[in-house]
Amino acid sequence: MDMGIEGKTALVCAASRGLGRACAEALAEEGVAVTVIARRADVLERAVGEMRAKTGGRVQGVAADVTTSEGRDKALAACPEPDILINNAGGPPPGDFRDWSRDDWIRALDANMLSAIELIRAVVDPMIGRGFGRIVNITSSAVKAPIDILGLSNGARSGLTGFVAGIARKTVRHNVTINNLLPGPFDTDRLAANIRFRAEAEGVEEAEMRRRMMDANPAGRFGDPAEFGRACAFLCSAHAGFMTGQNILLDGGAYPGTF
Ligand code: NAD
Repeated sequence: MDMGIEGKTALVCAASRGLGRACAEALAEEGVAVTVIARRADVLERAVGEMRAKTGGRVQGVAADVTTSEGRDKALAACPEPDILINNAGGPPPGDFRDWSRDDWIRALDANMLSAIELIRAVVDPMIGRGFGRIVNITSSAVKAPIDILGLSNGARSGLTGFVAGIARKTVRHNVTINNLLPGPFDTDRLAANIRFRAEAEGVEEAEMRRRMMDANPAGRFGDPAEFGRACAFLCSAHAGFMTGQNILLDGGAYPGTF
C-alpha cells in the first residue's frame, strides 16, 4: 500500500536505535525526509549512515537531548516545521517507588511527558495551517496495564496520555491527528536491560528470564522493532486522517482485556 506521504518531513526523537529508529526507517522507506534525534553524535552518525544505506531515503541526524529545552530547540532548528512528529525518549529506570525522590520524578516527567507536550506545542499550529499533520507518541503498554517495577514510566506516560486525549479531538478537523503507540515487549536494548534487572531480582540466568518472558506472551516471542515501525508509518499515512486520540497496543496479545 502506498502510504501517500512521499515528500513529507518528519522529526523522529530518540531514534539512533530501538523503536524510534524503526519508525524513522519505515518513514524513510515511504519517501519521507527524516530528521533523527539522539544524544551521542558518534552513535548517531553511524546510525544515520546505516539508515541511509538500508532505506535509500533522506535521513539527517541531529545530536540533541529531547528532554531539555536546548535540545528541543536544536532539533526544531534542523527541522522547523515537520509534517510528522514522533515523540520518544528513553524510559525511566526500573525500581521500587520507596527509593524515588522528587528529582527522579521530575526527570521521568521531563522525558516521558513534558518533552512530548513541548514539541507538540511547537509544531501543531503550523501543521494545522498546512492542513496535514501526524503526531505519534511512543508510550508503553504500561499505560493500560502497569508494570510494578516501572512506576516512573506508568505515572509519567499516563499523564501524557490524558493530555493527548484532550487535544487530539481539537486538531483532527484540520487533518492533524495525534495518537499513541503502546509497545509491549519489543526486542531492543531497553528490553534487554529490563530482562537483566528482572533476572537479577529473581536470581535466574538472563537467558532463562528471556525464555520465560517470551513464553508468557501469547505470541510466544518478542516483537520485532520493524513491526512497530510499520505500524507507526501507517498512523502517519495519508489514510489515517480519521483516527485520532487512540492508544494502539502492539503487544502480541499480552493485554488480556476484551477492549
Ligand atoms: P532503546 O533504549 O533501545 O532506544 C532508545 C533510543 O532513544 C536510543 O537511540 C537513545 O539514544 C535515544 N534516547 C534516549 N534518551 C534520549 C534523549 N533524552 N534524547 C534523545 N535521544 C534519546 O529503547 P526502546 O526499546 O526503543 O524504547 C523506546 C521507548 O519505548 C522508551 O521510552 C521505552 O521505555 C518504551 N518502551 C519500550 C518497550 C520495549 O519492549 N522495547 C516496551 C515498552 C515501552
